[in-house]
Amino acid sequence: MSDKIHDRAEQLIAQERVEGISPADHDWLSAHLQDCAQCANHARHTEHALRGLRTMAIPMPTGLASRTQFRVQLRLQEMREREPKRRALWLACVVSWAFGIVSAPYVWRLFQWFGERTGVPKLVWEVGFGLWWTIPALFFVIVVFMEKMRQSSESELTRKSK
Ligand SMILES: [Zn+2]
Repeated sequence: MSDKIHDRAEQLIAQERVEGISPADHDWLSAHLQDCAQCANHARHTEHALRGLRTMAIPMPTGLASRTQFRVQLRLQEMREREPKRRALWLACVVSWAFGIVSAPYVWRLFQWFGERTGVPKLVWEVGFGLWWTIPALFFVIVVFMEKMRQSSESELTRKSK
C-alpha cells in the first residue's frame, strides 16, 4: 500500500472526529482499517486520546490530542498565575500616583525650602518639582512598555513552538 493511502486514512480519522465524513469516506476508512493494522492502531490512539480529552482523566500525556490538552492546561495555568501579578502592578501604579498627589504640597514646600536655602533659581526648583511629578507617570509608562514587550516575545515563542 502506498503512503498516500495511509495519509488519507489518517486525515479521515481526524476529520471524522472533528467535522464528520461522508458515508463513502466512512466505508472506505473502515475497509482500510480492517486491512491496515498501522492505521487501525492510529485510529485507536486518536479515539483514546479524544476520550481522555473529553473526560479530562488522562494521567499522563499520550498521543497528539492529549499533548494539545496539556498545552492548553499549561496556558490556562499561566494566565491564572499572571492575573494577580498584573493586578499588583496596576495597584502599585495607582498607589504611587496617589502618593504623588498627597505628597505634592509637602514636596513643593521642600523644593521651595531647598531653593531658598541654596539660592538655586526659582525656575530650576520648579522644574525639579515638575520632574518629581513625572516619576509616577514614568513608572506607569515603563510598566505598560514591559507588558507589551513580554507579550510580543511570548507570541513569538508560541509561534516558534508550533
Ligand atoms: Zn493504513
